[in-house]
Amino acid sequence: GSTLEIRDLHVTVAGKEILRGVDLTVRAGETHAIMGPNGSGKSTLAYAIAGHPKYAVTGGQVLLDGTDLLDLSVDERARAGLFLAMQYPVEVPGVSVANFLRTAVTSTTGEAPKLRQFAKDLKSGMDALSIDAAFAQRNVNEGFSGGEKKRHEILQLELLKPKIAVLDETDSGLDVDALRVVSEGINRFRASGETGVLLITHYTRILRYVKPDFVHVFSAGRIVEQGGPELADKLEEEGYEAYTKASA
Ligand code: ADP
Ligand code: MG
Ligand code: MG
Repeated sequence: GSTLEIRDLHVTVAGKEILRGVDLTVRAGETHAIMGPNGSGKSTLAYAIAGHPKYAVTGGQVLLDGTDLLDLSVDERARAGLFLAMQYPVEVPGVSVANFLRTAVTSTTGEAPKLRQFAKDLKSGMDALSIDAAFAQRNVNEGFSGGEKKRHEILQLELLKPKIAVLDETDSGLDVDALRVVSEGINRFRASGETGVLLITHYTRILRYVKPDFVHVFSAGRIVEQGGPELADKLEEEGYEAYTKASA
C-alpha cells in the first residue's frame, strides 16, 4: 500500500508562518483525524498539500511513496493519487456532474473510461450515496445544497479511488441524515484498505461514524498531541482550551 509522509512542513500565508514544522505519516488503510481549534492551521495543511498558490511552502517535504508532491503541479498531484475536495472548482458552469466525473477519472488515470462501464460505476456510486439519478445531469455545484456538495465529494472518492484522500470539514453543514450517508460512504471507501484518509475536523461529531485509527491535535501550526480514538472522546468532553492556553 501507499504511504504519505509529511516531514517538517513549514507554510507561510500572506507573509505569516502558519505551519511551523508538521510531521505526519499516513499509510494505506489508516484513517487519521486532524483536530484543533479554529485558526490552528488545519485547512492550511490541506491547501499546502493540494498546491494552492497562496500557501507558500518554506520548508519540508510531502512524500507520496517517496515522490515529493511539492515538486508536482496540482494536476500531477492528482495523477499521483492524491485527492483533495478543494482542488476542484466551486462551480463549473455548463458542465454536468456526469461529464465532470468522467473527465476527472480520465485526467487521473490518463485514460477515458469506457462509457458503459463508467455509467455503471456512476450509477452504483450514486445509489450507494442515495443520490437521485437526475443529479448526474445537473451542473457541478450549481445550486447544490451542503449535503449534495458533500455527497458529490464522496462520489468523486468512489470513482477516483485515490491513494490518499484529504477531507477538510466534510461534516460541516450536514444534518444527521446526510452525515450518516456521507460517513457510510467514507467507511465503504476506506474498507478496501487501499487508501489512507486524512480527516480534518473541528468537531468530534463525524468521528462517531468514522472511527479514526489515530487522532492528532493541531495548535498554532503544530501537532501538539497524538493518540488513538480515545483522544477524540477526551476532546469532546474537554474541548481545546488546554491547547489554546498552552500556545497563547
Ligand atoms: P483552521 O482550518 O484550523 O481553522 P486555517 O488553516 O484556516 O485554520 O488558518 C490558520 C491561520 O492562517 C489563521 O490565522 C488564518 O487567518 C490564516 N490564513 C489562512 N488562510 C489565509 C489566507 N488565504 N489569507 C490570509 N490568512 C490566512
Ligand atoms: Mg522545523
Ligand atoms: Mg479549516
